Amino acid sequence: AVSLAQRVASLAPSATVQNSDQIRSLRETGRRILSLSSGDPNLVTDERIVAAGCRALQDGDTHYTASAGLPRLRERLAARECVRSGRQINADSILITPGGKFALYAALQSMVDPGDEVLLPDPGWVSYAACVRLCGGRPVAVSSLGGFDLDELRARTTDRTRAIIVNSPLNPTGRVIPKEELSALADFARERGLWIVFDQVYCDLAYDEFPFLQAEPGLEDRLIVVDSFSKTFGMTGWRLGAFIGPEPVRKAVAKIIQHSIYCVPGFVQQAGLRALELEAELLPRYREHFHKRLVPTQAALARLAGWECPLPSAGFYLFPRITGDDKAFARDLLDTKAVAVMPGSAFGAAGAGHVRIALTCPEEEIAEAVAAIADFERSGN
Ligand code: PLP
Repeated sequence: AVSLAQRVASLAPSATVQNSDQIRSLRETGRRILSLSSGDPNLVTDERIVAAGCRALQDGDTHYTASAGLPRLRERLAARECVRSGRQINADSILITPGGKFALYAALQSMVDPGDEVLLPDPGWVSYAACVRLCGGRPVAVSSLGGFDLDELRARTTDRTRAIIVNSPLNPTGRVIPKEELSALADFARERGLWIVFDQVYCDLAYDEFPFLQAEPGLEDRLIVVDSFSKTFGMTGWRLGAFIGPEPVRKAVAKIIQHSIYCVPGFVQQAGLRALELEAELLPRYREHFHKRLVPTQAALARLAGWECPLPSAGFYLFPRITGDDKAFARDLLDTKAVAVMPGSAFGAAGAGHVRIALTCPEEEIAEAVAAIADFERSGN
């Protein structure tokens, strides 16, 4: 009889993708749903970026590109990494990928053998553990709510530990990891001989100073950076991101790209080039767009009885601690008020008792959804 591979058969579907699918089907039945659960910002890709993509298509950019990506795009990204890291980064270090997700997946495929362990943040993005499992590895969750605890990291490291995933600003909490904590993580990775994967896909949405892990010294042989155009340029559907890393793992990832996707479509990369030309104009505007939503929403949620809602210093997520069970809350809120939020436990055991509120819908809908949440809480659910 035919059967599925164990590592896939035992894999849970993505909680966030499932949630988006559920909302899409509810809307198709004619129900009006206010969604505070999507990680897809309601930014329309700037028309000049769209025009660059269309022009490339019309000009016949319908062929494979170099598998590693367009040299000009790799150069532009390398120049940005030079500024972030304070050292020389060559275009050679960059591979263009379909989103940050594939960069992460291919990086893990290149470093994790069956039975190997990977340390990852809890709460943390839903795909980290799944990607590790797809490599036959074992995800090892480490508390990230108030920051990584070095003693906990040491206690959870074994001779099978191969890598640690660090995400700043962190999804779902919006926390920016401070410089001292990054230095301690860098020391830890060096001391234990681990790869360190830095997921910076929200870095351009930091409202204050943002410390980059690549500015830490002595990580050149072990640091992998996952970058993306999705969240910061409102380009989720274009599927454009990048892997940045040292030679052995980069060569491995290059082979995975060659044999799996070949390359990211050329017109998508051309659009990305245009986005980078416009970043000085667009990014401050997008930061302002989200900050304007974050501050009043945080204040409103922090006023709810029993809720604790810190103001994050980056991004468009709030991660309040609520009073009851997060899964029941999310389910009942959707049933009775047609408002969608993500239960915190979808992001790991340490997320239980929290919900993730994403400010990715129009401002009026956010206000309406927050009023509905307040009403739901007042009525004792
Ligand atoms: N990393 C984090 C923390 C995310 O939240 C996401 C998207 O939700 C990604 C990576 C991947 O995004 P993309 O593949 O669209 O670049």
